[in-house]
Amino acid sequence: MQDPAAVLAKFSPTSLGADLSGLPPGVRAALPSLKRALDGLHRIYLRQLDESLPAAYDRVLAGPAGTERDFYEFFLGPWNPLEGDAPAFPGAPERRPGAALYPAGLSAEEFARRSAATSPAERERLHDHYTVVQEGGGLVAVDYHVQYAAELAGMAEALREAAASVRADGPSAEGLAAYLELRAKTLVEGDYRSADAAWVKLRDSPIELVLGPYEVYLDALTGTKAAYEGMLFAVDREKGRALRDIEAGLPELAAAFPLPAGSRSAVGGLAPIVVVDLLYSSGEARQGVMAAAFNLPNDPWVRGNVGWKQVMIRNVMEAKFRKVGEPVSRAVLGDSTAGFEPFFFFVLLHEVSHGLGPAFRADGKPVDQALGARYTAIEEAKADTGALHLLLAKGGAAGVPAFGERELLDSYVAGLFRSMRFGLHEAHGAANLIEFNWLAESGVLAWNPEGRLVSRPEALRKSVAALLGELCRLEAAATPAEADAFLARYGKPSPELEAAIAGLADIPTDIRPRFSL
Ligand SMILES: [Zn+2]
Repeated sequence: MQDPAAVLAKFSPTSLGADLSGLPPGVRAALPSLKRALDGLHRIYLRQLDESLPAAYDRVLAGPAGTERDFYEFFLGPWNPLEGDAPAFPGAPERRPGAALYPAGLSAEEFARRSAATSPAERERLHDHYTVVQEGGGLVAVDYHVQYAAELAGMAEALREAAASVRADGPSAEGLAAYLELRAKTLVEGDYRSADAAWVKLRDSPIELVLGPYEVYLDALTGTKAAYEGMLFAVDREKGRALRDIEAGLPELAAAFPLPAGSRSAVGGLAPIVVVDLLYSSGEARQGVMAAAFNLPNDPWVRGNVGWKQVMIRNVMEAKFRKVGEPVSRAVLGDSTAGFEPFFFFVLLHEVSHGLGPAFRADGKPVDQALGARYTAIEEAKADTGALHLLLAKGGAAGVPAFGERELLDSYVAGLFRSMRFGLHEAHGAANLIEFNWLAESGVLAWNPEGRLVSRPEALRKSVAALLGELCRLEAAATPAEADAFLARYGKPSPELEAAIAGLADIPTDIRPRFSL
């Protein structure tokens, strides 16, 4: 059992501020009702984790300040996600793999066997994303909107109040008010698709609200049941304007990207990106490590027929950068000129770069099919390298802000090492290693005898352009064996790199947010 205080110490307490002065008065007046709706959702999520958790959570949060209270507040219960959800306190109950979404003691095999013995219609309901499985003379599926009816009714009432406040802002607020009312209605009816479609279509709103059952990570039994999460955001208008400039400059950015002869890029350009500040979150979105970006909904029908939104959470990104990225860059580089603005545009252009470069080969085959299991590492390295390349080659044009080479390199290294701490062995880790090893080979980065990185920013432009050319060439034409050879050469950490990452142990790995709302 890990010491819970030591686990918490890895997460730096951070106030998440946001500027509310730009919000219209009706929207500002609606914030308490919206918070109430999110708090109602929080209760549902606690019940999803364990039906006895809401009472324990209330008791601990009403109790004395200290490790247990902080732990419950941040991880939403006594379980330590850094130790496979093992209980972090003596006497705490074990976390069930199926949480409270399945009967206690039901194994995945038993569920498969018993559900296979039911009628096709009942089987479909048992395996639905939005039902709880219970014992009742055989396995029974209970709809979420029935199981959590009391909480959902309170949430719907709060959302209708919020809609009424928002309407006071006049005709321009009608879209948001109608969305809030639709969300209220569909939550209690258990119709998630129509509200998600309306959310994707909602544009130019001063706030964004996501709430409902979405991700299925909570369900470790079969990975099917969706967990409730809620997030309330203020839209960042200044960054929104910068984004529109980049959208307008997209053809120019695409032209700066290598597209080897015969290959074709994807059509359709950019998925809609929204830049926001997080005001409040609840349920799964409030638990442990916070997302700095997401892309919803997951429903394939909505994605195919209506689309999706890509959301970048500026204040969370900035807090992570200041609390983790900057100290990490100072530790590896000595003095560092890393800054949040270049880092933000690097992340933004990473997303843009996924849509640029080869998507189809000369024979018409999609690049991901041609490269198979090697694709993700190469594609993530391409998106990072493409972002750096666009910042270096187009800074000051096509909506891309201009930054100096040293500032860009230091900010990039901050993000790279922050990410490499989370592990070097999955696709993102392999992508990070490709980038680092390439920059080291071309002399942009080198280790000094003290184990610090020495950089030559003046060599960055050429090295990045060459790596991007190579990655696009691999996507456009490499055989699987060639791609494997490239990954074998560049995808391994050196002992110096492993030592440097191990030396970052005292720097927090992430933030523990405090909201002002
Ligand atoms: Zn990516």
